Amino acid sequence: MRDWLRQLFLLTLVSFLILTVAARHPAEKKWWKGNTHTHTLWSDGDAPPEWTADWYKSHGYHFLVLSDHNILSEGEKWVGIGTEKREFPPDRLKKVLERFGAGSIEARERNGKRELRLRTLTELRKTFEEPGKFLFIQGEEITDEWRKVSIHHNSVNHVHVIPPTGGNSIRDLMEKTLAAVKAEAEKTGKPVLVHLNHPNWKWAITPDDLAYVLEERYFEVFDGARDSANEGDATRPSTEQMWDHVLALRLGKLGGEVLYGLGTDDAHEYFKDQAVSNPGRGWVMVRAEKLDADEITRALLAGDFYASSGVTLEDVSSDRESLSIRVAADAGLTYTTRFIGTRVGGKVGELLQETAGDRATYRFKGDELYVRAIVVSSRRPVNPYHKNDFETAWVQPVVVRRSK
Ligand SMILES: [Zn+2]
Ligand SMILES: [Zn+2]
Repeated sequence: MRDWLRQLFLLTLVSFLILTVAARHPAEKKWWKGNTHTHTLWSDGDAPPEWTADWYKSHGYHFLVLSDHNILSEGEKWVGIGTEKREFPPDRLKKVLERFGAGSIEARERNGKRELRLRTLTELRKTFEEPGKFLFIQGEEITDEWRKVSIHHNSVNHVHVIPPTGGNSIRDLMEKTLAAVKAEAEKTGKPVLVHLNHPNWKWAITPDDLAYVLEERYFEVFDGARDSANEGDATRPSTEQMWDHVLALRLGKLGGEVLYGLGTDDAHEYFKDQAVSNPGRGWVMVRAEKLDADEITRALLAGDFYASSGVTLEDVSSDRESLSIRVAADAGLTYTTRFIGTRVGGKVGELLQETAGDRATYRFKGDELYVRAIVVSSRRPVNPYHKNDFETAWVQPVVVRRSK
């Protein structure tokens, strides 16, 4: 009996020590590179999904969300081989066969037409996923419209397809979509991210739409498709100006939460260089302990990520006093960090400080509603969204104070 008690005591003691040490030294978080918005032949992308997956995996991405329009990559889908619209051209099929081998595709003949079967996500996982190296997270572009205004959201890490909800107005549609995603998260018990896509594409979403739909917490500050109008125009704000408008209004007046900004490709074209939408223009770097769909999604939901079109950061940290950034500098390049924020009663989206070099810290004065940052390098992207672009990283806003 005494031995038994002593063993129990020792076991308890050892467990306690292990837990104490583990609590003080949590597994280190790493940055994982991923894209949450990309298309394949499952909808209007021009490549079979394995071609897309191969592109991302071989270009250093850790995770990928295939986000086709109102469809998951599951079930049976055949695409005609040919040169008509929505068909897969034989010269491209030849490239796929050269890359993956003659037996890599499944084809059939229907009404005198050859067809190609698309790989499902389950099949793609078997070929491409590697623990700690490459992961798919299931996704969909919930593609909806209100009176011809296109409103697109990406949902990430859901289990079931989420059909477009429709709505009585732009904002009502946005709210209904967010509610549908929330219901899916509750039903499955899994973290699910939903982000608003390309708000400036065809000038669909106004800054007020985004500000007043308080449940809308994530949006594409950078969508790599060249027709997404991230930069705005003479009369309409850029997505960055939109971001400041939303943050200033929500934190200064509406009692809302922060809006986080993502970078994505929204790639549709994999066979033409310098096309409207190519892979590799915009991505997110997410900080998480491990490469796991729920963990990555939770980190995105918590805002523990930054968006990038080329700049890599070593660290982003903030406390009550300051926001600090360390750039993983490339030799021969220079970096400028711009801290942007809105002070209580001040100009919306004011440049608060500009710092040259690969280390930058901004000390809060105390009257800022929020402070965010962009880091711009001296290098232009090889396949830019816009010819005037320099590689950039977008750091998430930090709330300093609220006036409501
Ligand atoms: Zn879209
Ligand atoms: Zn898209």
